[in-house]
Parts: sequence; C-alpha cells; structure tokens
Amino acid sequence: MASTQRLRALDIIAERELKDPVLTDKKISDYFGSDVFSKEQMRQYLPKDVYDSVIAAIDGGRRIDRKIANQVALGMKAWAMERGATHYTHWFQPLNDSTAEKHDAFFEPIWGGGSFETFRGDLLVQQEPDASSFPNGGLRNTFEARGYSAWDPSSPAFIVGNTLCIPSIFVAYTGEALDFKTPLLKSLAALDKAAVDVCQYFDKDVTKVVTTLGWEQEYFLVDEALFNARPDLVQTGRTLMGHTAAKDQQLDDHYWGAIPERVIRFMQDFEEQAYRLGIPLKTRHNEVAPNQFECAPMFEEANIAVDHNTLLMSIMRRTASKHKLKVLFHEKPFMGVNGSGKHCNWSLATDTGVNLLAPGKTPKTNIQFLAFFVNTLKAAYDYGTLMMSSIVSESNSHRLGGHEAPPAILSVFTGSTMDAVLDSIEERISEKKLSPDEKTEIKLDIGKIPEILLDNTDRNRTSPFAFTGNRFEFRATGSSSNCALPLIVLNTAMTAQLIRFKAEVDALIEKDVKKDEAILQVIRKYIIESKKIRFEGNGYSKEWQEEATQRGLQSVTNVPMAFREYISDKSIALFEQIGTLNKAELLARYEVKNETFLKKVQIESRVLGDLAANHIIPTAIKYQNVLIENVKGIKEIFPSEFERMAAEEIKTIHVIAEHVRFIRELSAQMLEARKKWNNVEDVVERAFGYETEVRPYLTEIRKHIDKLELIVDDQLWPLPKYRELLTIS
Ligand code: ADP
Ligand code: MG
Repeated sequence: MASTQRLRALDIIAERELKDPVLTDKKISDYFGSDVFSKEQMRQYLPKDVYDSVIAAIDGGRRIDRKIANQVALGMKAWAMERGATHYTHWFQPLNDSTAEKHDAFFEPIWGGGSFETFRGDLLVQQEPDASSFPNGGLRNTFEARGYSAWDPSSPAFIVGNTLCIPSIFVAYTGEALDFKTPLLKSLAALDKAAVDVCQYFDKDVTKVVTTLGWEQEYFLVDEALFNARPDLVQTGRTLMGHTAAKDQQLDDHYWGAIPERVIRFMQDFEEQAYRLGIPLKTRHNEVAPNQFECAPMFEEANIAVDHNTLLMSIMRRTASKHKLKVLFHEKPFMGVNGSGKHCNWSLATDTGVNLLAPGKTPKTNIQFLAFFVNTLKAAYDYGTLMMSSIVSESNSHRLGGHEAPPAILSVFTGSTMDAVLDSIEERISEKKLSPDEKTEIKLDIGKIPEILLDNTDRNRTSPFAFTGNRFEFRATGSSSNCALPLIVLNTAMTAQLIRFKAEVDALIEKDVKKDEAILQVIRKYIIESKKIRFEGNGYSKEWQEEATQRGLQSVTNVPMAFREYISDKSIALFEQIGTLNKAELLARYEVKNETFLKKVQIESRVLGDLAANHIIPTAIKYQNVLIENVKGIKEIFPSEFERMAAEEIKTIHVIAEHVRFIRELSAQMLEARKKWNNVEDVVERAFGYETEVRPYLTEIRKHIDKLELIVDDQLWPLPKYRELLTIS
C-alpha cells in the first residue's frame, strides 16, 4: 500500500543522521565583526584623507563624492578579495519584507584574452539593477523609468559567502523611494534634528541624537521533511488546517526550558555567522509555544539594527536548511498556539552618552527625560492608529487581538511609578506661577524618579507599546515584518511632536515664563491631552476593548481598513511636514500593501481549495469506504445484531459525509467569491472584498477539515499533524 507523504516524512526523520556543524573554538570577541568593512578596516584600507571624508559623510549624513568613492571602492575591493570575495552586490530592502541582491563579478574579461578584477567608485555608489519586478505601487512605469540602488555609507559593507554586500537604498529615477531604508533614513535624520533642538534646553553640548533599536525576533522551527509534506506551509508559511495537539503549551513547560540539542546546534551555527557580521546577539531562549524560540541582540543605532535584523533572518533561513530545519517567521503558523512577534525596543541616545528615555541622576536630566517621555505619549496618542497600521499585515492580523498577542488597539503602559509621577505633575503644576517652595518640591520629586524605577519591576506583557524603564517596547510588531515600518511611523510622529513641543515652550518663554516652568507647563498639558492612551490593565481582556471604544481609541482589525490610515489627510500631512514620505510615495505604498494582502489571501484560498479537493476529501472518502465495507461485513456476519453493532459506524459515515459536503460547498462558494472580486479592477476595492468575503471561508472550511482529522484513520491522514510539526527530535 502506498504510504502517505506524511508517513514518508516521518520515516525520513527516523532514519536521518545529522552532521554536527563545524564551529570555531575561538572566543566570540576574537572574530566578532571579521566579515564587516568596519571603521577600523576602513582606516587600514583607505588613505587617511579618504577615510576622514568617509567618516565625515557618515556622521553628517552627507553624500560621498565620486572622486572619494573611487578610492573607497579600491580599498573595499582589496579588503573583500583578501577575504575570498569574488562578487559584489547592492543589498537592499524592497517593499516585500525580504532583501534583494544581484551579484556581479569583480572579474572583468578582456576582449581578445586575459582578465582582471575591478570595482569602480560609480559601481559602489550607484547601480541600476533591472529590478522592474519589485513592488512599486505604480510609481515606476516599467518601460520608462528604472529604479536604481545607491550606497548607504552609514551601514557598513559586509561579506556573505563570496559576495561583498553593499547596503543600499532603492529609489526610482524620478526620486521616489521604492524601499524601506530611504524613508527610515529620512525619519532618523529628522528626529535627530528635532531631538537635538529640544536637548538644547538642557545641555548645549548635545549635537546629535540617534534612535536606538533593540529587536527581539521570535520564530518557529519545523523539521524540513515535515514542512515539505505540508503544501500549505511551503506555499503560505502557515498551516491552513490542523487540529490542535492534545498537548501543546498548556503546561508552560517549553518557555525558557532547556533548548533541544538539535536546536542548540542550529543556534550556535547561525550565531557564529551573525557574530562574524557584527550582529551583537545576546540572548536565545525557548518561547511559550512548543518549537518556538527567540533571539535578541544588544540594541544598536536603528538603521544598522534594521539591516542586522533582515540580514539575520536570511542567515537563519539558510542555516536552517543545513540542519534539515525550516525556520518560520510567520506571525501565526499554528492556530491555537502562540504567535510570533518582533518586539521593537526603541529609544533615543545623545552623543553625550545620555539615553533620553532613561531617568537621570539629577532633577535637570529628569526633566529632560520627562519631556521625551511625555512627548512619546503624546505622539502615540495623536498617531496611535497610524502606529498600529504600520504593523498590520495579512500574516500579523492572525496574531493581533488574539489572546496571547497585543490587542489591535494602541495603548501605552507606563508602569505604576511613572503613572503616579504623571498624575502628580498633572495635579501640582498649573498655569499660575509656582512658589519657590513648590518648585523645589516638584524638582525634588522629579529627582527621585530613578530610585523608584530601579526597584520597579512591574512589566505589562499585554500592552502593545510599553515603557520598560529606559525605552519603549513596541510589542505589536510582527515577526516577519521589517522593523523599519513601525520605526518610520514612530520617528516621524515623534519628530512632529518634538517640533510642536519646542514651539510651545518657546512661545511661553517669549512671554517671560522661566524655561523650566515653561517646559513643565507644556509637559503637563500633554499629560492631560494624552491621558486616554495610558492603560495599565490587562490589554487582552474584553473589558479593555469596551473601555477603549469608550475612550475613542480605534481598534484595527480589518486589514485594508487599517491600511487606509496611511493615506488619511492627517497622515499625509504628517509625513509631508517631516519629509519622510510624500503623497505619491504614500499612495504607492498603500497600493502595494493592499495588493500584497490580497495576493496572500488569494494564495491561501487557492492552496486550501486544492488541499481540500485533492488531499482531504479523497482521504475522507477512502476512510468512509473502509467503514462502509465494515458495515456491510457486520450485516453479513451478524444479520440479527446488525442495528446495534453498526449504529456507531453508520453515524460516523454520516458525519464524514456531512463534513465532506460542507467542505465541497464552502470551497465552491469561496471560489465564486474569488471570481467575483477578481473581476473588480480597483486593487483597494478588491482587497476589501477579499477581506470580507473570501477570508472568512478559510476559517469555515478549516473547521470541517480539523474535525475530519480527528475521525480519519491516522495511517491514511496525508498531512503531518500538529503534534508532529511541533516536536523536534
Ligand atoms: P525582554 O524579553 O524582557 O523584553 P530582552 O533582553 O529579550 O528583554 O530584550 C530587550 C531588548 O531591549 C534588547 O534587544 C536590548 O538591547 C534592548 N534595549 C535595551 N536598552 C535599549 C535602549 N536604550 N534602546 C533600544 N533598545 C534597548
Ligand atoms: Mg521584550
């Protein structure tokens, strides 16, 4: 008898012998960053004046001129070739949650014989990949304008395999951004300026403020053989069917438990490569669900942190296959068990070494901290819906609002200490002049913040945006997405907010209000205005959803509806004011988002339809026939006892028939729904149609399939089951 794909996969696993990876025995610090063209390497490989101009350009965020570029290219090529590189590529992040690269050889054959290796400055600075197939939302008419990639010197080049990778932006010839990095860099520069301006109230020495990002990447691992036997995982990244296992995460025995040996070897393998690339990974542990894990680096300057995250994701994918594993970055690969997020820990740091979102040691630094803290609250209040929209995607929508993931409503958890501090400021400061005693008292209180915060361990894991003592943690971000997305929105909103803050404080100072008092008064005003965004309770509870609605906070559950926030007048005005994205770019991104969403639902729907028709229904019928044969046999052998003896079997035959009927009918209806919406020209309208009329079938059909899984003979069931997928041996 032909065995199922599933049973064959289980056999493969049972018989497989895995080779241990070859790992270095060197200390991490001995090889950390060895594959990176870092500042130290530049110093060695570039003439002094060239090195100085590159550093000046990096620090000042300026372009590098062509003459210098030529010399940088020479140095970079020499460095890379000494390390075995034969090719180079501009490495960029198009609008599809992946990275793109097109490798060109340094090798240059000479017409008539001979060859040499070359890499010119113009190739370093700019490339014209024939990249007309990346999503562009109609910005780039394929036959007219092509896109080009341009070197981002603020993120160092690195070597992967034998290819020198040059971090780049990707823009259309007409100037519009076609990637995540371009608006991210713009948002970082804008926030730098606005934050420095505010810092001037407190410390004249501050000349630069960088955004810091520490991401935490959650992921699942699945055995490759089982993965390959699940067409839904292969084609959509998640399981479209599968009954929950009898035991998954109920006992909480996976979370922070011992990491399985095979997984440890995989982790060590990708970590070693990450360290060579200068990715400062610090932690690894099991997550809540079985087979779910997390890794997190030490935080870095945001642009580099984003590059490192996308780079690490591709290294993890590649390394996993060496270990016969598949890494799933999908936010919700398995229904009924926890999904995966990518928490974005966000803060601001000055070039004087101060973390602006950490309470300081003196009242003065603490007023500065309060100013940045409260401005963040206000930005989150004013642009909360946009922030949530920035993390909404087809895949993340399965996770948001579930019972183990941040709700789809933006609120901020500040912790009880800060909550009390904010309340007290609200109460005690008023627009009337404070007496000297009152001022001293308030300042003393503000000066006490750090002590209390230190032993304040309250953390709220149900909040989508939580203050964690020295940073905000944007927990709603999905595990598969590029963290540039939420950062672009957060930075842009924060920039606008800081500009407003400075204008309001300056206006009071003009009216002869003392600087400190002016700052406190504006802080108080924002505390009051942003109060509705603060929520210290359980964000997963029903009560909160009701309360949030009463507070007027928007819940983002319909995906295309959430995307709409991008092109609201308010959002366009914000992005254009700060200069991160213009209206044309926003409209293009809006279109890309809708199109991606709708294609993903379309693929899921097709895959489910195929699986139902070709895998599930035939299997159910096969088993039904076994039962029918059995019933016939009973009738033949026990004619007198037939009714009693066959009653259950007959009932099961009925149940199977009913499920099969439902699956057939629902699949046919789903197909009709797809046809109907595919005929609609407008992408956005089509996306809405898919959300409301196609997507619900995925859940409905699945219910019947999952019921069948419990009924049908295990030997016949064609797809690996949850209990198998969620075990690594
Ligand atoms: P938890 O799971 O408790 O949230 P982790 O240690 O897993 O904590 O992750 C915390 C993340 O926050 C790390 O990436 C860390 O580097 C980052 N982080 C710490 N301080 C800052 C900061 N000032 N700015 C940005 N990220 C930070
Ligand atoms: Mg965290």
